[in-house]
Amino acid sequence: MAGRCHVILIGPQGSGKGTQAARIAAPLGLVHVATGDLFRQLMTRDDDLAREVRSYYDRGELVPDDVTLRVLLSRLDELERAMPNYRGALLDGYPRNRSQAEALDRVLQDRGDTIAAVVHLAVPRAVLIERLSGRLICPQCGATYHRVFAPPRVEGLCDQCGAALVQRTDDTPEAIARRLDTYEQQTAPLLEYYRQRGLVLDIDGNQPIDEVTQAILSALEPVLGDPARCRSS
Ligand code: AMP
Repeated sequence: MAGRCHVILIGPQGSGKGTQAARIAAPLGLVHVATGDLFRQLMTRDDDLAREVRSYYDRGELVPDDVTLRVLLSRLDELERAMPNYRGALLDGYPRNRSQAEALDRVLQDRGDTIAAVVHLAVPRAVLIERLSGRLICPQCGATYHRVFAPPRVEGLCDQCGAALVQRTDDTPEAIARRLDTYEQQTAPLLEYYRQRGLVLDIDGNQPIDEVTQAILSALEPVLGDPARCRSS
């Protein structure tokens, strides 16, 4: 199939990108691709690349652009082989700075792919800190929970696969503050980059989870169904 039609999710850490991506990807025919998840998977290995990634990840710093692009491209190539008919990726956590956005433009152009839309999830900083400091994740299947706002049915265990839940190694107060600062300085300016191209859909992420999902689906469905925006539709 010629020309994938990708959607980018942009929002600060804790804005609900992962939660929403897991809900909207399948109904929209997209595949959720989260660079953070790809790194967490990679860090379960015991080799030089895993150690290099961990040294940035645990401090809440960005992994170098060249490493990140390589990891992303290898996932996109894998999808081409495994799912020849997929519509496009729902990119979560990439791009995170201007040079990544420019690299993505080049790579997509080479492949004949397009960016159909950029979904911007906006949430105030105080709410983000509250969400991130109570977050729990399943190391086995990637499901996320919150000690207070979205607890698992059995304390400490994943509802979906039963594994013991853990706190992310970068959800410490210092790393949370650093990641939110990096978002403000390097990622938020990308919204202007994409706004100039008319791609940004602004969504209020400070609402109940179901309402956010509904808002994203209502905003995206017409875009993905528009052949002018999405050639593969
Ligand atoms: P996330 O799960 O999206 O919050 O990402 C967790 C961590 O993975 C980040 O703090 C970075 O260390 C790394 N990471 C994820 N995506 C990127 C990216 N696009 N560029 C550089 N580092 C990234």
